[in-house]
Amino acid sequence: MKNYPELDNIAKSNIIKNYPELDNIAKSNIIKKLIKTIYLNIYYILMSFEERLDQLYQELHSENNVERLVLPNPNIESTTTNTYWTNVKDFLKKVNRPPKHFIEFLADQLGTEVSQKSSSLSQGLILIGKQKRQKILPLIEKYMKDYVVCKYCNCYKSKLKKDDTIRKYIFTCSNCKSSYSV
Ligand SMILES: [Zn+2]
Repeated sequence: MKNYPELDNIAKSNIIKNYPELDNIAKSNIIKKLIKTIYLNIYYILMSFEERLDQLYQELHSENNVERLVLPNPNIESTTTNTYWTNVKDFLKKVNRPPKHFIEFLADQLGTEVSQKSSSLSQGLILIGKQKRQKILPLIEKYMKDYVVCKYCNCYKSKLKKDDTIRKYIFTCSNCKSSYSV
């Protein structure tokens, strides 16, 4: 974690000014707590997508002792008319999700047409329009939270299968064995 010494001083002078009745130990405890909160917030903003995802997984898996999932860095290129996500197959393989489900999710979230460049998906996806990488990256995070990680035990080792009778996808966790529709 980075250091922000200037924040220490701002926090200290504000506490001392605003709470003159507190004794020194109480003041220093409040300052410590406050600085920790400020650091965490600032740190989160400064982190890149990859770091945030990494942290998310560390948090999720620290309790369960599950091995960490490392996602491939998405290769997203845009022309003036279309956007190409060339290595999406690696991502879907890692998270073990049906391409159709992810394509529908992406199209719905971006409000545009998304299709496979080839039937094997080895050439990736075409997204109609110039889609910004910064807009797509948080969607991967959302997809992971909503459709890959178990809502009961936070494990990512899970399956998603379409139940045609109810026309919904069923999520099944390999760790805690929960099963629910998503
Ligand atoms: Zn689970």
